[in-house]
Amino acid sequence: MKTTKSTDENDRYASLRLIDWFHLERVQTARVMVVGAGAIGNEVLKNLALLGVGNILIVDPDRIESSNLSRSILYRESDVGELKVEVAERALRAINPVINVRSFAGKIEEVFGLGVWRRVDVVIGCLDNREARYYVNRVAREMGTPWINAGIGPLNGQVQVFQPGEAACYECHFTESAYEEIRLSCGIRDRQMEAEQKVPTTPTLASLVAAIQVQEMLKLLDGESWVGRSLAGREFKYLGSASEVETISLPRRDDCPAHERIEEGSLIELPAASSATSSAAEILDVVRRQFGAEAVIELRHELAVERVCHRCGTVGRLLKRRLSLEVGDLICGTCGLRGEIVTTHQLGLPTEDYREDFLDLPLAALGIPPLEILRVLCPDGNEAYLELTGDLQQVTGTGIGLNQ
Ligand SMILES: [Zn+2]
Ligand SMILES: [Zn+2]
Repeated sequence: MKTTKSTDENDRYASLRLIDWFHLERVQTARVMVVGAGAIGNEVLKNLALLGVGNILIVDPDRIESSNLSRSILYRESDVGELKVEVAERALRAINPVINVRSFAGKIEEVFGLGVWRRVDVVIGCLDNREARYYVNRVAREMGTPWINAGIGPLNGQVQVFQPGEAACYECHFTESAYEEIRLSCGIRDRQMEAEQKVPTTPTLASLVAAIQVQEMLKLLDGESWVGRSLAGREFKYLGSASEVETISLPRRDDCPAHERIEEGSLIELPAASSATSSAAEILDVVRRQFGAEAVIELRHELAVERVCHRCGTVGRLLKRRLSLEVGDLICGTCGLRGEIVTTHQLGLPTEDYREDFLDLPLAALGIPPLEILRVLCPDGNEAYLELTGDLQQVTGTGIGLNQ
């Protein structure tokens, strides 16, 4: 005999629907970016899938190692060696097949540009280093996107909620030594050093802060109802050794350099422009017709143009982000001496240091990610912003819900 289940039994959200503050429709249309798929990221992602968050973007460059298995609910022994984001995406689909998940294997600065940031509702930072948080904060602030930070140690954890506008940002508390640390870390990547700097953590601490992050994310999605009752502008601290919890206000620094915001009005969408097919020369052409012949593109990253050897005179073309340079890039191919790296922040500006004969290459060859928002310095001193909107479909795919 055939039995027919009642609607309630078929509804995975039946219990959530009974909670008066939980707005399922809002959650189902939400677009949430999770940066980092490590210990905290696993717990955050699991919560997002269970709650039915409709559109989830995951970014992480790393592969799964055996040592991750003690703190990562989404990864299994057989996944060791796989990309974290790919396994996480599969695991989320298994937990909840009705949500959209899209994963990006790479560094957050390189996988996509700011066009994604302006289309998501909330960014959840699940990071383990200051440099990545610094970048996330700068970009989130620039696009007016709220983000939620977390940090954990062996027995303590913190969560901070940064909302654009009047509240404090992550950089507000930076001292001179914090900036110095950022500058020093912006050299050549040293994987050994990165591994040694990792703070040991537990799955209990990771799940604790991740739960607070996702709870606060729900409030941000429903902003109006939670004014004065969310963690916005504040820090939640769990002190495990004493079983104490405290919440403190984060002071805002008025001269903090991270508070500049791109106004939607100064943003121009270029529906035919793409980092894979458009060249800097083509973009400069558009820019100069509109803003004057001296307009230049100001890069968000430092572009290593070439390596000059002062011993034998060999010049080697690099065209890489300076932060992506490897030790081999520094060595002269002819004589083996360490050469001088010539870098730039601008395209379209004649200089004595190097020949700008790379402007006909696609923007991607100059380290510019898809869906980037290019900053243009105009001759009158103003700034304009041009989005490579032609990349939208490629970055978000179909159904991720960023196109509304
Ligand atoms: Zn600030
Ligand atoms: Zn040489």
